[in-house]
Amino acid sequence: MQIIQNYINGKFIPAQSGATLENINPSIGTPLGTLPDSDIADVEAAYQAAKSAFPTWSAISLEERHDILRGISDGILQNLDKLAEAESMDSGKTLNTARTIDIPRSALNFKFFATALMHFASESHSAPGSVSYTLRQPLGVVGCISPWNLPLYLFTWKIAPALAAGNCVVAKPSEVTPLTAFLLGEICNAAGLPPGVLNIVHGLGPKVGEAIVKHPNIKAISFTGSTRAGAEIARIAGPMFKKTSLELGGKNPNLIFADCDYEKMLETTVRSSFNNQGQICLCGSRIYVESSLYPTFKKDFLERVSKLKVSYPTDPSAHLGAVVSKAHFEKVLGCIELAREEGGQILSGGHAISMPAPYDKGWYIAPTVIEGLDGQCRTNQEEIFGPVVTIQPFDTDAEALELANCTSYGLSATVWTNNLQRTQYLSQHLQAGIVWINTWMLRDLRTPFGGVKHSGVGREGGWEAMRFFTETKNITIGL
Ligand code: NAD
Repeated sequence: MQIIQNYINGKFIPAQSGATLENINPSIGTPLGTLPDSDIADVEAAYQAAKSAFPTWSAISLEERHDILRGISDGILQNLDKLAEAESMDSGKTLNTARTIDIPRSALNFKFFATALMHFASESHSAPGSVSYTLRQPLGVVGCISPWNLPLYLFTWKIAPALAAGNCVVAKPSEVTPLTAFLLGEICNAAGLPPGVLNIVHGLGPKVGEAIVKHPNIKAISFTGSTRAGAEIARIAGPMFKKTSLELGGKNPNLIFADCDYEKMLETTVRSSFNNQGQICLCGSRIYVESSLYPTFKKDFLERVSKLKVSYPTDPSAHLGAVVSKAHFEKVLGCIELAREEGGQILSGGHAISMPAPYDKGWYIAPTVIEGLDGQCRTNQEEIFGPVVTIQPFDTDAEALELANCTSYGLSATVWTNNLQRTQYLSQHLQAGIVWINTWMLRDLRTPFGGVKHSGVGREGGWEAMRFFTETKNITIGL
């Protein structure tokens, strides 16, 4: 049994109350171990450690800060196999996904921001009679709260820029997938991160997460998770005038036009639908196809989907593993049931998958394709966050755009066309923070990342993240 502990002031300790939660392995549906059921007292201890560490951490040379963050990146890569196995066991994702996507990207997050801090600069403005310059100072102690779908990947995507900008951090990973965040503590110690600079407090969102958000001296909250929890955080943090970066849910459209590069589109659309069991905020869950291409697309897409193998995470030939938890399994199957009630035809999947022992109690769902629903039904309006997509034809560019924009979400959109003017027009009018043209999930870490409407407020990535984690101060000198 794996006993996870909090990481506070460089030490591994249980919750002060001694309470624990069960951590379940979703591929076999049985406990993997326990994690601390922390509360406000643990958050306070983490805050005090971070506060004490801040004067030194914010004042060390940029080179030294770079070297430590780079050391964490190297440590993640040195532990690639161990971390990938832990991530896969904890979340149900295939070992291959954890090994090739989650863990390498977690290392890259630290490498990227280690170099960013060496180049981060501010502006100066000169005028007759004055010169002004801008300081970008670390905020102090900041909070980072992350979800379960890309556990270490998204946890480090917040922590790395927060530390790079000179802050100390109180962080909370998802209680559903706490294992790799726990292992990160050891890597930080080995890399020479001073005690208290990063503190990791495990536990429930409404208990530990909320205590971080409510803490009067934690200056900013970087949150990735559901729109529901994001709204709750905004409600608390708003009147405290706390800086917030909220990366929330999505219901992303794929717009496929007849003039696209067909084979590349088809291969990518299968991935953008079912990668990580459809549990990526950027997955395209509403697929709109130009009418003239629709019959061909439907036939070929279904054929490709029928070849996807759902299996236990360590099966090297698995395309999909288990979904993350029993609660999520039931939610996704409930969404499929709702689609049926709304008149949708299930063209593929639509059911749970039974696996042989010892995986027979795990939570597996067949990749599901649904046809015959309109844009306004709940299936096409609400986030499912599982291996479920709808397909629907459209006739004109205007109709495609209207369908794409007709939900309350606006995280990303994908467009497949070789028409340059259409590309330009749609890019300008799609209500999304991220638009991909003839590709999907191609990430340059310097670019702004985030959504509009109910998909969030603020941007992560590159200088946007460094600016979020610093306070801007203007100084004007009269000459
Ligand atoms: P969630 O909102 O339930 O939990 C996310 C994190 O917030 C967890 O650590 C949780 O413990 C904590 N939390 C929950 N309630 C809280 C509260 N009241 N106060 C403070 N913290 C709280 O989300 P989830 O189920 O873990 O993740 C899935 C969601 O995340 C989906 O909606 C998905 O679209 C979204 N997501 C968004 C992005 C993005 O970049 N926009 C990326 C990945 C996932």
